[in-house]
Amino acid sequence: MSGPIDYEAFRREVTEFALTHCPPEIRAVVATDRKLSRKIWAPWQRILFEHGWGAPGWPKEYGGTGWDHRQRHIFDEVMAECDCPPQYHHGLRHLGPVIIAFGSEEQKRRFLPGILDGSDWWCQGYSEPGAGSDLASLRTAARREGDEYVVEGQKTWTSHAHEADWMYTLVRTSKEAKKQQGISLLLIPLNTPGITIRPIATIDGWHHVNEVFLDNVRVPVANRVGEEGQGWTYGKFLLDRERLGGANVAPMLKQLDRTRNLVAAELADNPDKRQALEQRLLDAEAELLGARALGQEAVAAVMEGQNLGLLPSVLKLSTSHTVQRVSEVAVDAVGDRLAPRFRRVDGTGPNAEAPGREWLQGYLYGRVRTIYGGSSEVQRNVIARQLFGF
Ligand SMILES: Cc1cc2nc3c(=O)[nH]c(=O)nc-3n(C[C@H](O)[C@H](O)[C@H](O)COP(=O)(O)OP(=O)(O)OC[C@H]3O[C@@H](n4cnc5c(N)ncnc54)[C@H](O)[C@@H]3O)c2cc1C
Repeated sequence: MSGPIDYEAFRREVTEFALTHCPPEIRAVVATDRKLSRKIWAPWQRILFEHGWGAPGWPKEYGGTGWDHRQRHIFDEVMAECDCPPQYHHGLRHLGPVIIAFGSEEQKRRFLPGILDGSDWWCQGYSEPGAGSDLASLRTAARREGDEYVVEGQKTWTSHAHEADWMYTLVRTSKEAKKQQGISLLLIPLNTPGITIRPIATIDGWHHVNEVFLDNVRVPVANRVGEEGQGWTYGKFLLDRERLGGANVAPMLKQLDRTRNLVAAELADNPDKRQALEQRLLDAEAELLGARALGQEAVAAVMEGQNLGLLPSVLKLSTSHTVQRVSEVAVDAVGDRLAPRFRRVDGTGPNAEAPGREWLQGYLYGRVRTIYGGSSEVQRNVIARQLFGF
């Protein structure tokens, strides 16, 4: 018979596992805040999977751990403390729960194992030129021909498409009066003829986002999730889970700690400036601790199948701004010294590999947090609509 959970023993078990199983070269990448790619994420996912910890958030019957939300929270905290990478989100946190909730039994059998063991890599094809905040205006069209859809259109800002095997994609399957109707969710293998992926150069020098062109791409109807025309419902269910990324505050607190160490080291001879920056970090810490409490509520609500209401938007809005502010403190601490090390957008340039560059890169990359997954203005609209009903 199993007794009450000993959370301290659980914490020790996870810490021991993280320190002995996460390869030092992977932890070194995380510890220096360098950017992650499939080469880093996939082997770590495989290790977690082999230990039975591949999907902490999934129900046990699909390979989840069966942990309660406090255990999941301890797991996230320990992973951040030990510099283990956060798990790649597109399969595990975004698409997986959608397939579990809305997919057919055949789709569950086919797609969940590859997400769980890290052998299938997913990206998100939602945004298009002219359809970002106003996602329901998307125009990529899927025309039915027998057992296939023929897809024509363009996606943009597609993170990690260049290293993914599959793209979960919102497409328009009919032109109804209301634009939210007539959208469907298709799972498209990225090696299908007619797909072209082009990189987008961003200010932080990291190749992360892409344009994806779809030219007469044939996709089996069996790859449609749920019902035709109901993709908006599934897409929004998924977006809520994407915004809950803000509930995992542990890596943000770890980054705040690193920044505190940086401020202490850089400004040892400048106590006034040091104190001012430390004050800003204290404010940020208070906000993150508030978000952590809210995040625990949200994770509990997800596990109990409750409606999440405002929580995903509030979390996304608050943590994205706070993390930006922390990265601004880092640049204020070292900015003058690092200014000549700005990289060109292609990632080259003088001192591109100089020590300390990660503070600048973190600052530049951090700008995106208030844009992706729905910009801050859009989150405020969502919150206002729910609070005031307009
Ligand atoms: C680095 C990065 C990674 C991304 N990854 C992905 C991905 O993997 N998959 C994917 O599908 N998409 C991805 N996106 C796209 C992202 O979701 C969109 O950029 C975002 O939704 C904003 O859309 P937009 O860029 O078209 O800007 P627009 O919608 O054109 O917005 C421009 C400005 O207008 C404001 N605005 C728009 N509408 C309103 C309104 N109603 N009220 C008030 N203000 C408004 C916005 O807040 C913004 O400041 C990514 C974006 C970036 C930058």
